[in-house]
Amino acid sequence: MQIPDGVTRDSGKTNRAPAIVSALLDLYDGGVVELDWTTPFELLIATILSAQSTDRKVNEVTAELFVKYPDPAAYLAVDETELQADIYQTGFYRQKTRSIRGVCAALIEDFDGQVPFTMAELIALPGVARKTANVVQSAAFPDQHAVDPDAGVAVDTHVTRLSRRLRFTRHEDPVRIEQDLRRLLPREQWGSASLSIILHGRRVCDARRPRCGDCVVEPLCPSSLIAGKRDKAGQAVALG
Ligand code: SF4
Repeated sequence: MQIPDGVTRDSGKTNRAPAIVSALLDLYDGGVVELDWTTPFELLIATILSAQSTDRKVNEVTAELFVKYPDPAAYLAVDETELQADIYQTGFYRQKTRSIRGVCAALIEDFDGQVPFTMAELIALPGVARKTANVVQSAAFPDQHAVDPDAGVAVDTHVTRLSRRLRFTRHEDPVRIEQDLRRLLPREQWGSASLSIILHGRRVCDARRPRCGDCVVEPLCPSSLIAGKRDKAGQAVALG
């Protein structure tokens, strides 16, 4: 990792944040969605299913799901119990079934069955919060994400944890964290920053046992356990 001159783990977050995100973008090839999808509609469904699940499990389920349910009307043409059974493996299947069918009804009613591309329209869909809207817009409509005044940074559990460990924010509320990230990061990094931070959270900066010794941004991290720092996010245990 190329550390900009004069930037250390004790520097202000304004200097550290862009350097850290640039390093993570290099490491993770600019950040990629690990969900399988070919259309904005498939990405929307996969993102809803990914809550409280793993991308690998979602991809296993959607491999058949997307064949059986090619469009919003298909999800409404079966009994709720049939859809519940088809997505059961992703967990929270009753709640997700309600979300999917609500979204599909709204897409048919208001958007001719197509996924809208503005944040305002996406977050107006039932059950679609800013995290899902940001993921869908940044991956499926990147040109719109670059100019949409309502666009931002998708904040999930990994982005929350790493943003706090890296001292990009002191907040725990996703909306407040997103506001801090929008202030700290250049706009062109918003979509990819989230994806690369998520990958780093999954692979290195584990919630309970962060692998600081294997971490490319350790020299700039105020919570590095190998530098003897405390994890003020309060989720780490001592290196074992
Ligand atoms: S140094 Fe440790 S706590 Fe900091 S980002 Fe890396 S793995 Fe996470």
